[in-house]
Amino acid sequence: MSRIIITILCFAYITGFGQTDYTTERKHMVKTQLKARDIRDRATLHAMLNVPRHLFVPKSKRSQAYRDGPLSIGDGQTISQPYIVALMTQELKVKATDRVLEIGTGSGYQAAVLAKIVDSVYTIEIVKNLALKAKDRLKALGYTNVTVKWGDGYHGWPIKAPFDAIIVTAGAESIPQPLIDQLKNGGRMVIPVGPNNSVRQLVLVKKINNKIITKNLIPVRFVPFTRQNE
Ligand code: SAH
Repeated sequence: MSRIIITILCFAYITGFGQTDYTTERKHMVKTQLKARDIRDRATLHAMLNVPRHLFVPKSKRSQAYRDGPLSIGDGQTISQPYIVALMTQELKVKATDRVLEIGTGSGYQAAVLAKIVDSVYTIEIVKNLALKAKDRLKALGYTNVTVKWGDGYHGWPIKAPFDAIIVTAGAESIPQPLIDQLKNGGRMVIPVGPNNSVRQLVLVKKINNKIITKNLIPVRFVPFTRQNE
């Protein structure tokens, strides 16, 4: 009898039976990479525990999806390290009724994490192939409150503005003025700022009484914020 049980357990282990949704890996990621650092926001932790990150990376990289680092997603772009996604989400201090703008859709993972917390996410991606793939992926996974647009996020999304929060997931040399203009009074923006090909600062921008207050959070590396027709 015990031999049969051992055989079944070995089979289950080898085939990955019960592991295909990566629940164990995701829980481990939340515990060791987020809670063990400074991620305390319950909504952020809950979202990261529930969004299937492995479905946002190329099939060949699924087993690496929960590692403590960024991953290549094709077209020269990357999905950010889980900790950076969590930190940026936490710093936005978003709530269930919020409307959020993201610049740099990439795989759609950050948008999906935000979509678990807020009312609606508008996200812009400059690489057409990535925008189309992210749109299909988010639709297939049932994220009905995310709208993806292909274009240059420098200009923001004027007809959907103002936003309660704005997140820029590509490294900018300076903060685009249209994004500042489209942030609600009392709103928050998180954006990596600094020279290209170098370490940038993750900057928290707050709009208070229509004035901008900035705070450097941590040094980060991000793929560059590019421009269309330049
Ligand atoms: N948030 C993504 C990762 C972003 S990587 C995720 O969760 O997977 C940064 C992305 O920003 C890249 O896909 C890049 O093509 C895009 N990007 C760079 N400049 C941009 C711009 N001006 N407007 C919109 N997207 C831009």
